[in-house]
Amino acid sequence: MKGRKLLMIPGPIEFEPEVLRAMSAVTTSHVAPSFIHSFGNALDLMKKIWLAPAGQPFVVAGSGTLAMDMAVANLVEAGDNALVISTGYFGTRYKDILERYQVNVTILEAPVGEVPSLETIENALKNKAYKVVTMTHVDTSTGVLVHSKEIAALAKKYNALSVLDGVCSVAGEEIKQEEWGIDVVLTASQKAVGVPPGLALLVASEKAIQTWEDRKTLVSNYYADWKNWLPIMKAYQERKPSYFGTPPVNLIMALETSLRIINEEGIATRIQKHKQLAGAFREAIAAIGLKILPIKKEDAANTLTAVYYPEGVEMASFLKHLSKLDVIVAGGLLPEIKTKYFRVGHMGAVTSSDMISTLSAIEFALVKSGFTFKSGIGLSTFQKILNSSLE
Ligand code: PMP
Repeated sequence: MKGRKLLMIPGPIEFEPEVLRAMSAVTTSHVAPSFIHSFGNALDLMKKIWLAPAGQPFVVAGSGTLAMDMAVANLVEAGDNALVISTGYFGTRYKDILERYQVNVTILEAPVGEVPSLETIENALKNKAYKVVTMTHVDTSTGVLVHSKEIAALAKKYNALSVLDGVCSVAGEEIKQEEWGIDVVLTASQKAVGVPPGLALLVASEKAIQTWEDRKTLVSNYYADWKNWLPIMKAYQERKPSYFGTPPVNLIMALETSLRIINEEGIATRIQKHKQLAGAFREAIAAIGLKILPIKKEDAANTLTAVYYPEGVEMASFLKHLSKLDVIVAGGLLPEIKTKYFRVGHMGAVTSSDMISTLSAIEFALVKSGFTFKSGIGLSTFQKILNSSLE
């Protein structure tokens, strides 16, 4: 009736009305006192949410790919070695980005749904000196979560910088950047951070900044060079006007709003909620008789679930029927199995009612696509698990 659909893809997500109101506020000058205040607050809040009190936040106009690019463009120099831990599509993207900077990339891949073991990672680190280790916290193509704390500890042990692609994890999965010693944690606005697409966000450790300061060669990416952005971020942190490239004023006001909401709720509570909803959703999917991509429970993400179509169910039929109930999920992304699975995002402002609507639509679409199962089993399982976790 309202003419809107429930957006359950892994980004962009459904946003809080207050965040959307900030998007439609009157656009001010980027040096207006009110905007300087908002930008400064947003940067301070990032340090709290990233749990990186000594970190240096950066916010620039761009998507998550720019955040990936900015992180390594500033840290690597031609001829350096980088180790990419890949659990899907976005691991391959990191390899492509690093190769643009004439870096020698070693990529560690696991079969679909698995993660490279810590032993494999340690062996790689023992055999060669790496400047940087990158990992995708949650690969959005598979819903697989890597154990970033342990990998960051290994990188540190072998004197490499660690970069966490947290595009699909920041504010939805546990990350203690400073305590775990991760050198860069990067993300994009449109996911669990809860702001429309358009912002590349990252927090760099003191060691990362020092590494950049010690470079022998210029950063070969003009837009992403911290030399251009560091003074700007520092100025806003000190509530002073500054300019390098015009900041996306409304997006940054929306960022301040969303980070304030997250911070008021408390990052630990927020993550716990993601965990509860994801856990109940996965049980519901299993009760219907469907399989998810991650092989082990502990490798499954809080922020999205990637589900194989059951035998005999065609992608086109499933998605057509799902959209009849005004629920939008994402198709597969991993090229080799693209048509064999779908993905449901559940992060940010998502509620249990959104999940119930989604499960109901999934059950409907499965029935219409010819799959036989006990009708309502997904919904009742979800309710049972969620209710018990809330008691
Ligand atoms: N990394 C991960 C894990 C992602 O999920 C995405 C986007 N889906 C990206 C990087 C790239 O982000 P963007 O599409 O905003 O460039």
